[in-house]
Amino acid sequence: MSATAIELLPVPSSSIAEIPSLVAGLRTTFDSGRTRPLSWRRTQLEALLRFVKENGDALVAALQADLGKPELEAWAADIGQVTTEAKLALKNLKKWTRPESAGAVPLMGKSFIMREPLGVVLIIAPWNYPIGLLLSPLVGAIAAGNTVVLKPSEVTAHTSAILAERLPDYLDTDAIALVEGGVPETSALLEQRFDHIMYTGNGSVAKVIMEAAAKNLTPITLELGGKSPCIVDRTADLAVAARRIAWGKFMNAGQTCIAPDYILVEESIEEELIAELEKSVEEFYSGETQENPDYTRIVNSRHHERISQLMEGQEIAFGGATRAEDCYIEPTVLRNVSPDSPIMQSEIFGPVLPVLRVKDVDEAIGFVNQGEKPLALYLFSADASTEERVLSSTSSGGVTVNGTIMHLANAKMPFGGVGPSGMGAYHGKHSFETFSHRKSVLRRGFRFDIKMMYPPYTKRRTEMAKKML
Ligand code: NAD
Repeated sequence: MSATAIELLPVPSSSIAEIPSLVAGLRTTFDSGRTRPLSWRRTQLEALLRFVKENGDALVAALQADLGKPELEAWAADIGQVTTEAKLALKNLKKWTRPESAGAVPLMGKSFIMREPLGVVLIIAPWNYPIGLLLSPLVGAIAAGNTVVLKPSEVTAHTSAILAERLPDYLDTDAIALVEGGVPETSALLEQRFDHIMYTGNGSVAKVIMEAAAKNLTPITLELGGKSPCIVDRTADLAVAARRIAWGKFMNAGQTCIAPDYILVEESIEEELIAELEKSVEEFYSGETQENPDYTRIVNSRHHERISQLMEGQEIAFGGATRAEDCYIEPTVLRNVSPDSPIMQSEIFGPVLPVLRVKDVDEAIGFVNQGEKPLALYLFSADASTEERVLSSTSSGGVTVNGTIMHLANAKMPFGGVGPSGMGAYHGKHSFETFSHRKSVLRRGFRFDIKMMYPPYTKRRTEMAKKML
């Protein structure tokens, strides 16, 4: 299959009527204690790795049919998330689950923190990295010993179908279920009581999730998006900066939650940066993206139309071609973009990169701080004091200095947003923690029993207590 052959499938769906009994079944499994032993968790994580290994080609084909995703990006940025996370969890499971000493409490006893599974969790994923964003949270949920409902995005229907068809052959289906579908199926799921919900997607739907979760006081993790700025100052190596920005932006045709959304560049270097961006795009794709298997399509005609409309009336520095039949939009850079234009009002989520001129980095900081806290922020500067100033005077989910995207690749760091870009975080041990309850335990012995703690609270006992504080 050609990497650019997007095929549309009807929206997949599971039976809504069966959802209550499905969730009840997962609760029965959880209550039975079956998912608690480390041996069960290990078996499931190993099975997940086997699933990826044995079905890799089919998964790549599904991603290509849904998004025209290049094979390398399918592996490195999507499927690879699952294997990296699963291997890390398998290696560290014993360490993560070991009770953590919290020291001794004088005259009381020893205390420790115990990780326990939360129960039945729901993981709702979007379409842009439809395997990684569904199955890498699953790793954390399994590692923590939960039962799970997976809800893949209906937008990437081929990927949803292959996951629904083949995952049950590998995983414990009494503990891990997959529900296909769109709004009706997700709404039916949200009527059930879960012990945790993890949602990755846009901020409007996040409010629906939060409202539904509130009815049962269910804790949630929200992995959202926003307009991630990219600041470039005059000390930056512009050729390297442009290459790294173009890579982060045009990978997956800009449909990446932490893609640089727009550039704030010091005016003296604007033209040189734009020229370097053009050179990078030329080098990446040899000047041809329409039939190029290394370049992804826009996921569907609705998004194609939305992004095309955002380009209307803008000054195009390079790029700008669109083709509705196969949801193609050329890597595009815009110049002289007004902060008030529609493209600057919401996350672009496509291969269009506005460049806005600023006098200096302080103006860029002011601009960023006027907007909502983004999921990622990028700074290109060789000046340490500028880096310090930007890091300490802006807030974002994460930052890569002199690069884009890559802060996400270190599983030792929590990945998540702040404010409107998200709530909670995951990756590596942080995923395990997200799906665990940290239970504080104090263990006392029977031998020492301090009588002065108990009533009657005589004057003498009160005085002694006051002296001890
Ligand atoms: P989407 O349309 O696939 O929706 C995500 C999920 O929400 C799907 O499973 C869908 O079925 C469900 N859903 C949609 N409408 C719903 C409703 N009314 N009620 C209940 N469930 C509903 O994906 P999307 O939202 O278009 O994803 C793109 C957004 O996700 C962007 O804003 C992007 O920045 C963000 N994102 C964030 C991350 C992250 O890690 N922070 C990763 C990827 C994408």
